[in-house]
Amino acid sequence: LFDAGGAPAKAADARGPSPSPVFMPAAADLEVALAQKNLFVVYQPKIHCSTGRVSGLEALVRWQHPDHGLVTPDRFIPLAEGAGLIDGITLAVLNDALPWFAKWSSDYEELGELTLSINISARSLGRPELIDTIVALCERSGVSPSKLIFELTETAAMDEPVAALTLLTRLRVHGFMLSLDDFGTGYSSMLQLVRLPFSELKIDRSFVASAATSQESRAVIRCITDLGRSLGMKTTAEGVEDSATHTYLQEIGCDLAQGYLFSRPLTPMLLANWMDKHLE
Ligand code: C2E
Ligand code: CA
Ligand code: CA
Ligand code: CA
Repeated sequence: LFDAGGAPAKAADARGPSPSPVFMPAAADLEVALAQKNLFVVYQPKIHCSTGRVSGLEALVRWQHPDHGLVTPDRFIPLAEGAGLIDGITLAVLNDALPWFAKWSSDYEELGELTLSINISARSLGRPELIDTIVALCERSGVSPSKLIFELTETAAMDEPVAALTLLTRLRVHGFMLSLDDFGTGYSSMLQLVRLPFSELKIDRSFVASAATSQESRAVIRCITDLGRSLGMKTTAEGVEDSATHTYLQEIGCDLAQGYLFSRPLTPMLLANWMDKHLE
């Protein structure tokens, strides 16, 4: 669905040229963007804290508006959710990501089994048909569901815990993995959370960004890492920007990390360059 290769290199940078501050996209703009393939996907490597080697990639959607430039997902995902366009975006992301992921898994076989993380909206939780489509897409591209990790935000999981449990359990039955994104930012009950079948906790960037300077943030990170370990879940720190934080994560036994310290989200072409360097 996307013209992935055609995305301008600059757009890979999340802090790239910012769109005009007055541009407030409407649902109709987004429909046009979907139809005209103005959305594209960038990929951010996920690293094993202990070894520094790549463990997988997270797909992050971008909108290259012909007049307004790059629009980041914070500005159109909520719109898409409200306008019933979010499943279209999820499927478009998968259509782009699965073939690339299949290629990278074989190109970079020496890294071992890579994973592909996909962000999924709470709005999709009520729609079990979506799962059949996702399973079919995986089959078509030859990607085993066990390589896919669906990331759901803590707030999303708790807004509709019953719908969440139903859909998440179905995803698990198909072999997909589940990750609890932005962990630590919600106000959910621990007990409800641990009943949901997640295999990963993603420590929110707000704690990770301040780890180097804040004793409190480090305490929260350590606490989530210990919780994940006791529950048999992987812990991933997102937004790692400095090596002191990386060292701290290694010390406390956090499993995985993502952030500008390792790489920004990259277009497929830039990712291939990055991987080649990574493997040198
Ligand atoms: P998220 O899933 O929590 O993604 C992490 C965000 O942090 C991404 O922003 C990423 O580019 C950014 N990031 C990664 N490393 C660093 C770092 O070291 N420093 C800083 N400052 N930022 C870093 P992005 O790509 O703008 O995405 C924002 C949010 O939009 C995502 O948060 C996710 O909730 C949502 N999103 C992105 N793509 C999709 C998608 O395909 N579907 C859905 N439903 N939501 C998406
Ligand atoms: Ca995410
Ligand atoms: Ca997150
Ligand atoms: Ca977030």
